[in-house]
Amino acid sequence: MTAPTTPVASPGIVDAVRAALGSVDDPEYPDLSIVDLGLLETLTFDGGVARVGLIPTFGGCPALAMIESDVRAAVEAVEGVERCEVTWLRSPVWTTDRMTAAARRTLADDYTVVLRGPDGGLRCPVCGGDEVEDRSIAGPTRCRSIAWCPTCRNPVEVMRT
Ligand SMILES: [Zn+2]
Repeated sequence: MTAPTTPVASPGIVDAVRAALGSVDDPEYPDLSIVDLGLLETLTFDGGVARVGLIPTFGGCPALAMIESDVRAAVEAVEGVERCEVTWLRSPVWTTDRMTAAARRTLADDYTVVLRGPDGGLRCPVCGGDEVEDRSIAGPTRCRSIAWCPTCRNPVEVMRT
């Protein structure tokens, strides 16, 4: 065993931690991991401590505490990690651009969840129509609201950002 001359993170452990994070699903969307959703921003490992910087998708979402404890449990299960510190970063701001294309498709196909574009516009995940109207701020969870697509006459859920 030779000690590294500089305090660089062990690449093997960082990869293992990243893989562990990829297994942490968002409580709202059990098919999607927090990595798919673009929540992971920073990851460092030093002296047995893994520091994970996450970006919250929804301000005040009750799922954040759940995500945090899931992340800690998953990362601390990685061999070589003694402790995991989770930090919710204030910047950069999460946007739907951070999601993987596969995650967007899963949201649209499996959950009928529509994402608000950078211009604030909504596109129907069912028919692709762009005339989706906001209907109600009271969605099934605090993170989503209900909208309506007049083109295919389907209710769609809007992920709040
Ligand atoms: Zn539609």
